[in-house]
Amino acid sequence: MVLASWTMQRLQRLARPFRRLRRDFGGRMSRHHVFSQRLLQDWVWSVALSVSRHMGLLRTTPAEAAEKTALAAKAGVREDLAAAYRLCHKMGLNEGVCNHLTALLPGSTDRFLVNRYGLLWSEVTADNLVLVDASGEIIEGEGPVEVTAFQIHRAIHLADPEKYACVLHTHMPYATALCCIASTPGESSHLAHPDWPLVMCHQNSARFHGDVAFDACFNGLVTDSTEGERLAAAMQGKRVMLHKNHGVIVCGRTVAEAFDDLYYLEKAAQIQLLAMSTGRPLELLRDGVAAGTKAVFDNEKASAARLHLDAWKRQIARDDALAIS
Ligand SMILES: [Zn+2]
Repeated sequence: MVLASWTMQRLQRLARPFRRLRRDFGGRMSRHHVFSQRLLQDWVWSVALSVSRHMGLLRTTPAEAAEKTALAAKAGVREDLAAAYRLCHKMGLNEGVCNHLTALLPGSTDRFLVNRYGLLWSEVTADNLVLVDASGEIIEGEGPVEVTAFQIHRAIHLADPEKYACVLHTHMPYATALCCIASTPGESSHLAHPDWPLVMCHQNSARFHGDVAFDACFNGLVTDSTEGERLAAAMQGKRVMLHKNHGVIVCGRTVAEAFDDLYYLEKAAQIQLLAMSTGRPLELLRDGVAAGTKAVFDNEKASAARLHLDAWKRQIARDDALAIS
């Protein structure tokens, strides 16, 4: 790299007389002369680049650039997923060393990153995440990987690696409480909605309009592939699933998008439960309004979710700095 830099500097010197000429006489030179001088400068510069590339002195071949991009993407997913673990811990969305958040390794459809079982989520870092494949083999990092983490997440990632690139499973209190309310759809007006038990009673709820599956079948811990695949099918292609007597599964194309949904799902559930606790009927959004609101949120999802996660990552950095000082 030092040699490449030195070579570029030497070649650029060839253009200096022309720059000096323009600086000293530019004002008096004819437009034709200035144009010719610029052409010559451009030519010298392009020759310098070509010679350097030909000699292999510049490390910017397409293959090398692609490799750098791929490595940066993998590192970025590790950082985002580790941040999501720490943020869930900070926000009280997880339980002990249970629950699990996973993300497919960029470029792969069957290898995913998961936490090492036994760590508090505040202890999860980009470096101690474990990479497993669809057979359960640990490719990178140190296990163990908890069996339900593997069975639930493997099946959902494989069901749609693009839409379900990130899969978050928690027993976060408010959304999980919605999964534990006994009711019969149609029994009361506010539980008759297709998104039952999450209903469209607030702007936050509308983010999930028509995009929530509800699985009313709890068969115990998900310890085998059959139950994992049944849950994946029960997602019905939705972003969110509420699992009766259990918890939530929130999926996204990126860690940022999934985390954004997890955060607002809990907020929506909290508001709904607070409103229900009054014993008064819920004021529901009109279906078209809820659908339109979701469309607006979805349209800006990628950028808004990125800003949201980055903002929380800065908060983690501030917390860490305070803890050290
Ligand atoms: Zn669970």
